[in-house]
Amino acid sequence: MIAESLRKIQQELPEICTLVAVSKTHPASVVLEAYLAGQRHFGENKVQEMVDKWEALPKDIHWHLIGHLQSNKVKYIAPFVQLIHAVDSTKLLEEIDKRAAQNERKIAVLLQMKIAEEETKFGATASEIEEMASAIEGGKYPNIVWKGLMGMASFTDDESQVRREFKSLKNLFEQLKSRYPEIDTLSMGMSGDYPLAIAEGSNMVRVGSAIFGARG
Ligand SMILES: *Cc1c(COP(=O)(O)O)cnc(C)c1O
Repeated sequence: MIAESLRKIQQELPEICTLVAVSKTHPASVVLEAYLAGQRHFGENKVQEMVDKWEALPKDIHWHLIGHLQSNKVKYIAPFVQLIHAVDSTKLLEEIDKRAAQNERKIAVLLQMKIAEEETKFGATASEIEEMASAIEGGKYPNIVWKGLMGMASFTDDESQVRREFKSLKNLFEQLKSRYPEIDTLSMGMSGDYPLAIAEGSNMVRVGSAIFGARG
């Protein structure tokens, strides 16, 4: 079942697009099933759950923290996290930089832009992102590697709205990339909207229920 869904989704993705299998709420045994089918990138939104799975599962899994992250929890994932997707404040950048240094590694991050027209709590404005980007690139956080942007579209059936939101993220990404050519990751698209996200230029999708089924 899982192997079949993974294969089907993978076939729809351009080669440059990374599939992050969002395994939140599903037990380690289910993650292992996907791993045995060849999947290596997994996404979680809760720190404790990600730590438990990291401890239980093969060490060549790339763990992505995709949800909102509280500063006081960065220390638990700092030793192993592959990519933190939802960075939206300098407070969080400071903490990630500090914990990366303590672990003698660099930690890769995406800056999360608030693109949804609907009310959401998390994500930064374009100008806040530009400020964070210039601080990182100016050397303020030497233990952080800034890889690109992440965003979540509104939960709506209105396709033109979702496209508009993805376009705004892609636009900012292209602007920043012209200034900072080393950024290469645009994380957008979930089970309900990843085909639209890919059409709008995503190169990393975060897909959960379309692989693992509905969460309980
Ligand atoms: C849960 C979650 C996803 C995956 O959602 P699905 O609709 O199950 O694909 C993607 N991104 C974030 C930030 C999430 O929290």
